[in-house]
Amino acid sequence: MASTTRSEKKVVTLIPGDGIGPEVINAARRVIEAAGVPIEWEECEAGATVFRKGIESGVPRETIESIRRTRVVLKGPLETPVGFGEKSANVTLRKLFETFANVRPVRELPGIPTPYSGRGIDLVVVRENVEDLYAGIEHLQTPGVAQCLKLISRKGSEKVIRLAFELCRAEGRRRIHCATKSNIMKLTEGMMKRTFEEIAREYPDIEAQHIIIDNCAHQLVKRPEQFEVIVTTNMNGDIISDLTSALIGGLGFAPSANIGNDVAIFEAVHGSAPKYAGKNVINPTAVLGSAIMMLRHIGEFEAAATVEHALLVTLEEGKVRTGDVVGYENGTSTTAYTDAIIANLGRKAQRWHVREYKPLKLPQVPTDFDLVKPAKRRVVGADIFIESADDPETIGKRLEELCAPTPLKLKMISNRGTKVYEPTGAMTDCVDHFRCRFILRSNDAELSDEQLVDLIRRVGSTFRWMHVEKLQEFDGQMGFTKAQGED
Ligand code: NAP
Repeated sequence: MASTTRSEKKVVTLIPGDGIGPEVINAARRVIEAAGVPIEWEECEAGATVFRKGIESGVPRETIESIRRTRVVLKGPLETPVGFGEKSANVTLRKLFETFANVRPVRELPGIPTPYSGRGIDLVVVRENVEDLYAGIEHLQTPGVAQCLKLISRKGSEKVIRLAFELCRAEGRRRIHCATKSNIMKLTEGMMKRTFEEIAREYPDIEAQHIIIDNCAHQLVKRPEQFEVIVTTNMNGDIISDLTSALIGGLGFAPSANIGNDVAIFEAVHGSAPKYAGKNVINPTAVLGSAIMMLRHIGEFEAAATVEHALLVTLEEGKVRTGDVVGYENGTSTTAYTDAIIANLGRKAQRWHVREYKPLKLPQVPTDFDLVKPAKRRVVGADIFIESADDPETIGKRLEELCAPTPLKLKMISNRGTKVYEPTGAMTDCVDHFRCRFILRSNDAELSDEQLVDLIRRVGSTFRWMHVEKLQEFDGQMGFTKAQGED
C-alpha cells in the first residue's frame, strides 16, 4: 500500500519519462485529479536526462529514495540514449525493487476495430519479471560462441505463480494457463511447470492447465477468447504480451503493472515513441489504463471504476479518437481526447461492463534462500567445456587417455547439445565449443573437489577449457539433462 500523509492523501512517485512520456503521464494525472482522487505526486526523474547528467544507472538517488518512501510509481517510458550506460533504466527500476511480476491485461475495447472485434478478448498475461535470460548473464565462451545463462528459481516461479492465482481470485476469473517450453527445457522451464502444478492444488476453484508456449502463441492468434490468465516465464511473456497488445488495437491501448511485495510500478507497455514527442498526437489510453490499475492497487476501487467508465463511454461514443486509430491526419489531439474523458467522468458505459475487483492478495513466500531442501545430494561427475578446432574423434581419444588414471571416465562429448563422441551417425556441423562429460566410474562414489581440480588440470594440459559444471544428483534424481543422442 502507498504511504499516506496526515490528510490521508496517498503519495505516489511520478516519473514523466522521455519522448511522449510527459504527454501521456500528464493526461493520466489530469484525469485522476479531475476524478477527485486524493493523491500527492512526488515528481522524479529517470531515463535519458539522467544518463546525460552522467548517472550511469539512469536512476538518481532521489528517485530511489522517493520510491522507497511511497512504494507506488506511475511512470512514463524511459530511453537509454546511445552512448550512455549499458543497462536500461527500466530494467534497473524493476530489479532494484524486485517487482517480480509484470501484469499485462488486454481487453477488447469499444470503437477500436480489429480483426478480432466481437470476440470478447479479455485476458491477462502475468510474466515473471526478473529471472530467465533477462538476468543478463552472458559470456563469450570462444571468440565465436556466446552463452546466456537462463536462471529460473523455484522461489521466483512460486512468487509469480501465486500472484497469478491470486489475481484470478481478485478479478473473479476462473481459468489459468501456465505457458512454458518444458518439453525442451525440462529443468528451467520445467521448474515453472512443476511449481504451477503443485500450487494449482491449493486453488481448486480455478481451472489450471499447462500449455506449451508455441501452441499458446498459435492459440492466441486463432482463438484468443479462450484465455483468461496466462502465467509464464520472462522471455515467453515478453513476446506473447506484445502479441496480445496487438489483438486489441496496439500499443496505444496496452497498460501494465510491475508488482513486487514492497513496490509496484505502473506504466504503459509502449516506449517513448520519439517521432511523436511534443506533437500532442499520441494515444494516452495505455498509461491511463496503467493509472486505473494503480488506483485499484492503492485501494481506490470506486475511483478506478469511475475513470474506467469515463474511458469506455468516450470510446463507445467514438466522437474523439487518436491518430493511431483513425490516421494522424484525422486524429484528435492528446489533450482533446483527455478533455473528453474528463468530461465523461460520472457517466456509465452502456454496452461495456467494468469488472468487479477485490484487493489483490500478495503472495507470502518464505524468504529463505533455499526453498528446496533435498535430504541427499551427490556430485557424480562434471561437464568440462573446451575450445578446440580438432575433430570429435581426436578430442575424445585424447581425453580418454588424460582421464585414464582418475576415478572418472569420459561419458560423451557434445557440440551445441548434440552428442558427437562416440559417433552416433549424426551430421553435426561442429563449432569450436565442446562439452566433455565425465562421470565417476563407481556408482556409489562422490566426486571430491580435489579430484575435479586434478581432472581440470589434466584436460587443461592439452585443451583450452573455459567453463566447468558439476553434475549433481538431488535425492537420487539427476540434476542435469542428457545431450541429444546420449544414452
Ligand atoms: P515505442 O516507443 O513503443 O514505439 C513504437 C511504435 O508504437 C510507435 O512508433 C507507434 O507506432 C506506436 N506507439 C507507441 N506508443 C504509442 C502511443 N501511446 N500512441 C500511439 N502509438 C504508439 O517503441 P520503440 O520505438 O521501439 O522504442 C522507443 C524507445 O522507447 C527506445 O529507447 C526503447 O528503449 C524505449 N522503450 C521504453 C519502454 C519503457 O520505458 N517501459 C518500453 C519500450 C521501449 P507507429 O509508428 O506505427 O505510429
